[in-house]
Amino acid sequence: MVASHATLPADPTAATVDIAATASSAITNADAVALDRANVFHSWSAQGSLKPLVIAGGSGSAVWDHDGRTYLDFSSQLVNTNIGHQHPKLIAAIAQQASTLATLAPAHASHVRGTAAAKILSHAPSNMEKVFFTNGGADANENAIRMARLHTGRDKVISRYRSYHGNTGSAIVATGDWRRIPNEYARGHVHVFGPYLYRSEFWAETPEQETERALHHLRRTIQCEGPQSIAAILLETVPGTAGILVPTPGYLQGVRELCDEYGIVMILDEVMAGFGRTGDWFAFDAFDVTPDLITFAKGVNSGYVPVGGVVISGEIAATFDERVFPGGLTYSGHPLAAASVVASIEAFEEEGIVGNASRIGRDHLEPGLRALAEKHSVIGDVRGRGVFWALELVQDRSSKTPVTAEYMGRLKAELLRLGLLPFLADNRIHVVPPAVVTAEEIATALNIYDQALTAVAR
Ligand code: PLP
Repeated sequence: MVASHATLPADPTAATVDIAATASSAITNADAVALDRANVFHSWSAQGSLKPLVIAGGSGSAVWDHDGRTYLDFSSQLVNTNIGHQHPKLIAAIAQQASTLATLAPAHASHVRGTAAAKILSHAPSNMEKVFFTNGGADANENAIRMARLHTGRDKVISRYRSYHGNTGSAIVATGDWRRIPNEYARGHVHVFGPYLYRSEFWAETPEQETERALHHLRRTIQCEGPQSIAAILLETVPGTAGILVPTPGYLQGVRELCDEYGIVMILDEVMAGFGRTGDWFAFDAFDVTPDLITFAKGVNSGYVPVGGVVISGEIAATFDERVFPGGLTYSGHPLAAASVVASIEAFEEEGIVGNASRIGRDHLEPGLRALAEKHSVIGDVRGRGVFWALELVQDRSSKTPVTAEYMGRLKAELLRLGLLPFLADNRIHVVPPAVVTAEEIATALNIYDQALTAVAR
């Protein structure tokens, strides 16, 4: 690829960047990094030392940069491109919708928005009746919590220490007008430990013990906090960024029973785990449990247009039949997002993508990752489902001491050098390819993980 700066301003901070030129093949990685570092403020980072990897394009499970390097995307970006990059059906649906009506206020009725909600509901449990659309996962959880509080008249929310639910929470309290008032809660959040047998907080040695003791801990927390003050238990069905912690058998049913016993709303956060990631439409499908509210984002349309939402049970939706729901977003049910949701769910149905994720997990990823663990003693634990797996890396298997950040840095560099874009968190490799990944791509990736672990061990 030709390396030329001719199409870019000499000063990357200059106000008049030629946007058309940025699509040109003459752009280099260095150009993209220079513009980024001069102008972009990044999430979750000290800005000074950042050296972001450049991605210029993608297709399916692959991405590439401006300088001709291609990577197998086994991060699915932020575990969201479940349908892979540039799926033609989504691109066409977004383009078609853009040419018809590119934006629409949430108060209006629209066929595409109604269809997107109906499509989501067609894969949800039968107690679910409505969908409230948001811009992403965090505001989906914000609104699910709001619904639970207003529905129960209680304010506390129990969630887990090992979880991530999004990056909002103070904007509405900073708001000055009436919309703040029904949302002002002085008290709020209580945390518990959930099941994680590999590093059990409960001295458990079996999955059964872990379930029983985690549920006992939760019951005692509810009792000590006061059941009458608890609006919701909010759980990622399978905690994702926290380590792909597949719940031990019976845990989620036990939580459901506690919710029923104490009149607490059960919210399952399916933002990362939903829409094929675990090899099911919703991750909770595999655990025989029905929540009251489901939050979603990411995989619902693979992030082609930002969207998230809350799937609402009939009972909770009815709370707001006569009472105003004090929440809303300018882009709730945005038509480009809605069109991409419809196209994505249709493609999932037509192409058997959820089944592919399940099969890949069972027949290729699980055996392949377990074989890697036999070969590399640094792998202390292998866990997951579908296309949602974690390898936990330890200095030795008996102490389970995590490998160092320096080790993880070298591993990342080696994986990238070998052509795999990884998702690394703490001392773990999260093996999270798109749900459309092929057996051949899995074989290539397993070989790269093997080579990289071997190289880093030297
Ligand atoms: N919930 C879970 C389980 C997530 O993994 C994330 C993001 O990674 C969120 C919520 C927040 O979603 P968003 O970044 O779209 O706000």
